[in-house]
Amino acid sequence: MSERTVYIALGSNLGDRRGNIENALAALAAEQVEIVQRSSLYETAPRDVLDQPWFLNMVAECRTRDFPLQLLARLLRIERELGRDRSGASIPRGPRKIDLDILLFGDAVIAMPRLIVPHPRMLERRFVLEPLAEIAPDLRHPVSRELLASALDKVRDQKIEKLAED
Ligand code: AMP
Repeated sequence: MSERTVYIALGSNLGDRRGNIENALAALAAEQVEIVQRSSLYETAPRDVLDQPWFLNMVAECRTRDFPLQLLARLLRIERELGRDRSGASIPRGPRKIDLDILLFGDAVIAMPRLIVPHPRMLERRFVLEPLAEIAPDLRHPVSRELLASALDKVRDQKIEKLAED
């Protein structure tokens, strides 16, 4: 497969959140998923399951030769290796050490049982749109063609805070 630009969302709200995100980026880079650009880290209020710690979120622009399902399998394996609990005891959309989602895979539109791209909830989430607009302000949604920076204007009521660089 030729090289594609993909945008991956990373999130963590358990344990050493920053360390979990750094470890996930290092794991990707060690597996021929080149990290081209990374957004700032954002501290964000939980959604869906509200009674859980705040998340750290960021978005990375990557280059890969993976096919989409190959990249998904890679992300799920890295999540597992970094200790994400997907056992029956874990709460769906509850606390997690690391969450890796494919937001965009080039301009591909994919609707498979296991993989939906663009990520179906990306337009509703400030913690995705804000870091994405930071590193790729001219990007458009491949289906609606809406500028992602305009989509961001509609979700500014959601609480998030950009972390200062250290
Ligand atoms: P979650 O528990 O929220 O991380 O959801 C993970 C599941 O969502 C995976 O088992 C994938 O099969 C499925 N999925 C569907 N579309 C995507 C996507 N764009 N990125 C990551 N996972 C996806």
